[in-house]
Amino acid sequence: MQNTNRLYYDNAYLTAFDAKVIALRELDGRCEVALDQSAFYPTSGGQPYDTGTLGGVRVTDVNVEDNVVWHRLDGSLSVGDSVHGEIDWPRRFDHMQQHGGDHVLAGACWELFGGETIGLHLGEEVSSIDMTLPGGRTHLTEEEILRLETLVNERIQRDDPVRCWFPDEEELSHLPLRKKPTVTEHIRIVAFGDYEYVACGGTHPATAGQLGVVKVISCAPARGKMRLTFVAGMRAVKYLQSCALTAQKIAKEVSGDVVNAHEAYLREKEAAKDVRQRLQQSLTEAAVEIAQASGVSLPDGGTLYARHLSFLDRAALLHAASFLVKGGNALALLTCPDKNGCAVIFLRSADRNDDMSLLLRESGARGGGKPDMAQGSAADESVLEKAKEILGAQK
Ligand SMILES: [Zn+2]
Repeated sequence: MQNTNRLYYDNAYLTAFDAKVIALRELDGRCEVALDQSAFYPTSGGQPYDTGTLGGVRVTDVNVEDNVVWHRLDGSLSVGDSVHGEIDWPRRFDHMQQHGGDHVLAGACWELFGGETIGLHLGEEVSSIDMTLPGGRTHLTEEEILRLETLVNERIQRDDPVRCWFPDEEELSHLPLRKKPTVTEHIRIVAFGDYEYVACGGTHPATAGQLGVVKVISCAPARGKMRLTFVAGMRAVKYLQSCALTAQKIAKEVSGDVVNAHEAYLREKEAAKDVRQRLQQSLTEAAVEIAQASGVSLPDGGTLYARHLSFLDRAALLHAASFLVKGGNALALLTCPDKNGCAVIFLRSADRNDDMSLLLRESGARGGGKPDMAQGSAADESVLEKAKEILGAQK
């Protein structure tokens, strides 16, 4: 079958064209057509397909098989039809920016850190490059990412031309390719200025400046490799806008100044922590006083403090219980509200032999622990009355 003449090889800016339907097939109940020539980019090399229309019929997917480009239609056409094709330019140009961003980023990462690209994924929101680094490193430091971003954006601002061509074997052997081509014939080379030469069948902007901005979003290990996640072009502008808006909102809350917002935030955080600690301390003191007033005698002469403390949380409850048994010969059985009903803590002083874990279970609470301290949860604070009964406490 006739290979498709791929018009985007010569002109990545071609948005409309005329062609003839030369073949038709049905796949998964959908009509797919092949044309004598097409400007539609088929999914390949990590760059997603173009959408658009053919003869007014919507194109929903494009794939290439054995040099034939197949256009999946949301409708049907017939072999022999002359059709006018139009591709969705904003989608394509966005892909050209992300794909071009990948070239400049991968090239700079190779140059600066010896990073070798293993795979590329252009996503709907962000794109990522999987790389291996010398010595099996799986991430870059913050400082290395800044250097990388700086070099990439300096190169973009130089606005060098981007060229695509099919060199002969002789010329190809002299090109400083970043990586070995994966195909052996009809090798198409893309060159960004004099710093990125690589075999690629994708669509690229005519100059590096059209990439606008490249921003690394994250750099993290992924399946033993390093994954660089990034955005380019208008996506990067939008991303940076949303970062700036968030930073401005935070700055307004803490100081009104974006540049010093982080220091101001840390100061506020420290101050809030201090207030929280003092508040917790006061609450615990108040709780201890209330619980002390509830003290009753045990048959063996010890003191039992059993009390529901509605304004404490589990951590503060333990704190209060420790305080109550500090004087010795005492048990502290405390509850406070939590998401399961009640948090329960049973604690004994070190000089007693009661089994708190057993008592907790016998009182009907869920949970456990050790003889000296047990905790769990209960439907409500009635577990305290039950425990008092078991212990035979006197009013
Ligand atoms: Zn490319």
